[in-house]
Amino acid sequence: MARLRWLSFPSLDMSFSPRYLVLALMFFFGPILSASAEPRTVRIAVLAFLDTETMDSQWAPLLAHLATALPGYTPVLVQLDQAALQAAVTTQSVDFVITNPGNYVALEMEFGISRIATLDTAQAPSPVRAVGSAVIVRADRQDLRSLADLAGKRVIAVGENAFGGFQVAWREFVQLGIDPFTDFAQLDFVGLPMHKVTDAVTAGRADAGIVRACTIESLPARLSSGFRVLSPRREPDFPCQTSTRLYPDWPIATLRSTPPALAKSVATALLAMPVTVEGMSWTVPADYQAVHELFRELQTGPYSYLKESTLRAAVVRYWPLVLMLATLMVAWIIYTVRVEYLVQARTTALRQALDERKAIEERMRVHQEQVEHLSRLSILGELSGTLAHEINQPLASIGNYAQSLVLRVDNGRVTDAAVREASLEIAGQAARAAGILSRIRGFSRKRATVRERRVLAELVRETVVLFLGMLSNRPEIRVDEGTAANCAVEVDPLQIQQIMLNLLKNGLDAMQDLPDDQRRLDILLRPDKGTLHIAVRDYGRGLAPEAREHLFEPFFTTKPDGLGLGLSICTTIIEAHGGHLSAQPPAEGPGLVFTFTLPIHD
Ligand code: ADP
Repeated sequence: MARLRWLSFPSLDMSFSPRYLVLALMFFFGPILSASAEPRTVRIAVLAFLDTETMDSQWAPLLAHLATALPGYTPVLVQLDQAALQAAVTTQSVDFVITNPGNYVALEMEFGISRIATLDTAQAPSPVRAVGSAVIVRADRQDLRSLADLAGKRVIAVGENAFGGFQVAWREFVQLGIDPFTDFAQLDFVGLPMHKVTDAVTAGRADAGIVRACTIESLPARLSSGFRVLSPRREPDFPCQTSTRLYPDWPIATLRSTPPALAKSVATALLAMPVTVEGMSWTVPADYQAVHELFRELQTGPYSYLKESTLRAAVVRYWPLVLMLATLMVAWIIYTVRVEYLVQARTTALRQALDERKAIEERMRVHQEQVEHLSRLSILGELSGTLAHEINQPLASIGNYAQSLVLRVDNGRVTDAAVREASLEIAGQAARAAGILSRIRGFSRKRATVRERRVLAELVRETVVLFLGMLSNRPEIRVDEGTAANCAVEVDPLQIQQIMLNLLKNGLDAMQDLPDDQRRLDILLRPDKGTLHIAVRDYGRGLAPEAREHLFEPFFTTKPDGLGLGLSICTTIIEAHGGHLSAQPPAEGPGLVFTFTLPIHD
């Protein structure tokens, strides 16, 4: 009598626990270690999906039958979860596999396992229409009538890879346009055993649950009446309610490593197995094409590669369009890169040009300042021929007062009043000399251009004092401020003084042949619509019209020792202040009138 051995793994969750490992080692290597004395062991792995006791009782008749029908063999059954089952197939440590249709198709495609018989149960009208799913809700949920009502609801199932416990229903949802992974408010996988799903639905933790068809019918009536199956289908002769189409029943399959003789013996034994009291027997292998279609449609399990290859297929099919798009894209990238490069290059060139221009302007500004400075020194040089005489006057007075004091001391006629008077005079004369020197030093100093708000009439008066201070033979200078007495301008005061001094000196030069009492200079200030006009008139020899055309050109001079730069520098300065310089003959009488303008600053 052949020996009969049962091994069952009580833990039915989907993970591979260390406990499994120990039991599996016992199962796989135990028979090998004792092989010499024992009959050949036939190792059959069964996918576990119910609790251990139920499983034991379900498969016990099969085991008993094989033990009888296969003399010389010891059939051994082990219950494994999906991961452990796959590991057993990978390592070829079992001879046969009994599993659900989905798992079978996956292992068939990946490891070449091959069915030799299909389970035939009393429940199902035919072994090819045996497995389905029931989507259940609590009987009192009137709002939920069909599968379509579950969009946005909480749904619970055994596991993503559970065939009857999820995948079969998944296909129906997809055909209704519902993606369980995105369109449910919540999708929970709670693992085996199946009653975890029914419990969750009863407790209201989920609106609906997905269970294998016939799960509800196998419950005691008081429990099963608490549920309702959504979208029940008309499946003739099928004794249970199902929300899905039906698929073939579980197969038993050989591995590539299973000896053919053993496969034949087992297949023969299975087909000859009488129907058990539970109504279970084996029949010829069913067609599992429907299961392939399911996976292909869902692009999952053995067909998950379809998801990736969809893109590849599209490329192959529409390659001219793809090629055109790719070419356009490359052209666009080249164009963009080129434009970007050109923009960069132009920007750099522009920046360089701007930098160069700035540098040139800076050099010009420095030169301009130097020229202006030299021009001021030149005016001083020309005007201060008499400066020594000017300074000499206060010095002579100081000397005179000092000597008169000495005489008084010598004659004993010194009084406090006389000492005080002489001292005040001496101090006054010293201050006068110091004032002349300070104005000249201020005018001749070298510095950068500034802008200050100044009342122009005051600036004109200061310039006249400076001008007269440098002359021994002073002309008469009349200043007519008119209504411009308080007009302010924003200027570089030193530069404006420089213009005024230039014009006054030119006017004086033009009158050098006149007797002293006829030498006269007029300065006239007139505001007009936001502009201040400043006119400097002399009564000299004037200028011929053809000479006037060249008046403001650099190096135009009629003087033997002239440079011809004064007026051209004045023009540059005035224009930098937003004004204009011109020359006209006076309305009446001799001489020339130079007029320059400045914007009035409020
Ligand atoms: P410079 O005084 O060194 O000659 P300017 O540029 O100041 O240089 O003057 C240029 C020329 O303009 C003078 O040489 C002179 O012929 C003429 N000019 C300037 N001011 C007068 C004036 N008030 N009357 C007549 N001619 C003038």
